[in-house]
Parts: sequence; C-alpha cells; structure tokens
Amino acid sequence: MESRKVALITGAGRGIGRTIAIELSKNRYDVAINYRSNEEEALEVKAICEKNGANAEIIKADVSKFEECEKLFKEVKEKFSKIDLLVNNAGITKDNLIIRMTPEDFQDVIDANLNSVFYCMKLASRLMMKQRSGKIISISSVVGLHGNPGQTNYSASKAGIIGMTKTLAKELASRNITVNAIAPGFIETSMTQKLSEDIVNTMLSNIPLGKFGKPEDIADTVVFLSSEKANYITGQVISVDGGMSI
Ligand code: NAP
Repeated sequence: MESRKVALITGAGRGIGRTIAIELSKNRYDVAINYRSNEEEALEVKAICEKNGANAEIIKADVSKFEECEKLFKEVKEKFSKIDLLVNNAGITKDNLIIRMTPEDFQDVIDANLNSVFYCMKLASRLMMKQRSGKIISISSVVGLHGNPGQTNYSASKAGIIGMTKTLAKELASRNITVNAIAPGFIETSMTQKLSEDIVNTMLSNIPLGKFGKPEDIADTVVFLSSEKANYITGQVISVDGGMSI
C-alpha cells in the first residue's frame, strides 16, 4: 500500500479550510492545520482528522507575514519531514465601493489573500523541488475571474492568485510539481453569512443550479486535484460555482 502523504492547509480552523483538512484526512493525507487566531477551532479539526486515522498537527501562523510563514514551514518540516500538498485557503474580505475603500483595507486584503499565497508557494516550492514532486492548490474565487462591485481589493487578490498559479505551473512542471486553482462561487460559510439579504438573493438568482455551494463541494475538488488521478492537470482554474460563471 502507498505511504501516507502530508498536506498543509492554511486557514483550516473553520469554513472551507476546515472541511478540506477533514476530507484530506480521509484520503491518505496527514494534515498540518494552520490557524491564525482560534486555537479551540483548530484543535477540534485536529481531533476529527485523527479520528479519520491521520496524523494531524495544529500550527499557529498569520500567513500574511513572511516571517510567520517561514516558521510555519519550518514546523511542518520538523513535524512531518516533508510536504506533498500545499492548499492556500486562508482569506479575508473587507468590502466597500472604491470611493469608500481605504488604502489600508485594500492592502490588508492583498496581504492576507495574495502575499500569503506568494509566501507559501515560495516556501513550498523550495521543499517540493528538492523532493521532485508536489502539488499546490490555491483557493481563488469566481470574483477573481469576473469581478464584483464592492470587492476591488478581493477580486484583485483572487485574480492575482490565478496569474501566479499559471506562472508557477510553468516554472515547476519540469520538477513534477502541479499547480492549480479552484474558483468557488457562493459557498455557505461565515464569510458569506455576513452578506445582506439583498446581495444573497441577487447571487442566488445568478446560479443556474439554483442553490449555494457547501464547503464539501470545494473539499471534494481539492481531494481530486490532490490525487494521482489529477497528475496530468496543471495551471488550471476549476470553477466550482453551480454554473454562476457560465
Ligand atoms: P472563513 O469561514 O472566513 O474562513 C477563513 C479562514 O481563513 C479562517 O479560519 C481565518 O482565520 C483564516 N485566515 C484569514 N486570514 C488569515 C491569515 N492571515 N493567516 C492565517 N489564517 C487566516 O472563509 P471561507 O468561506 O471558508 O473561505 C476560505 C477561502 O475560500 C478564502 O480564501 C475565500 O476567499 C475563498 N472563497 C470563499 C467563498 C465563499 O463563498 N465562502 C467563495 C470564493 C472563495 P481567523 O479565524 O483567524 O480569521
């Protein structure tokens, strides 16, 4: 039987990241659960992953800061001795129309959603190039492909992820490393819970399948892209959005 692999999932204490960690733990992955602020949530995810038969560790780090990412990867290396899969999931929103969006709100979202992905891709690449294998999956958004009023900062960060994914797929292909992105539509998590009823109803009317997605819809796509069945897929953006982007 094949040996277990090691995945690092950023922002895995709740929402989509939590579900990704849990589903990977059922699919031959040991998991490094990164969290920023809520240790209790992260410990709960760890316990579930362990029940699924995985080795699981929680690692605190704010991935918007390069020094903290360096510590995060050092700890992953110490605890698991390798990394087969990086899932860039951590993300935030600070929505506002551009005339009201402050430079700080723009910068915070770029730091959390885009710079973090650059830092983690850079650090993972170093280890994966030595191993001559690896997979990197980043969570972009339908908004990174098509834009959305009130989300200049967020859509810039999510579009940036797509550019980096395609570039890195080309840079790392010769080392047997695949790099892909997932563009979720509207997924039911705490991130979307804070939207107004008006926005939610407008969004729903734009989803051909007529319902919102669940974190499992994204986690199942990660499980596929992280498996050997996806070995020939790289540089792609997979939309998981109920048809919203058609
Ligand atoms: P969520 O429920 O708000 O969870 C986001 C997670 O990321 C939280 O655990 C948060 O930790 C963590 N995080 C944020 N900034 C961090 C940082 N600097 N360092 C480490 N962890 C950090 O959101 P979600 O809906 O699951 O979103 C997950 C990803 O999917 C995000 O990248 C989001 O942009 C993307 N996405 C979501 C949707 C959707 O409809 N929900 C659609 C498209 C894309 P804290 O508790 O410390 O804040």
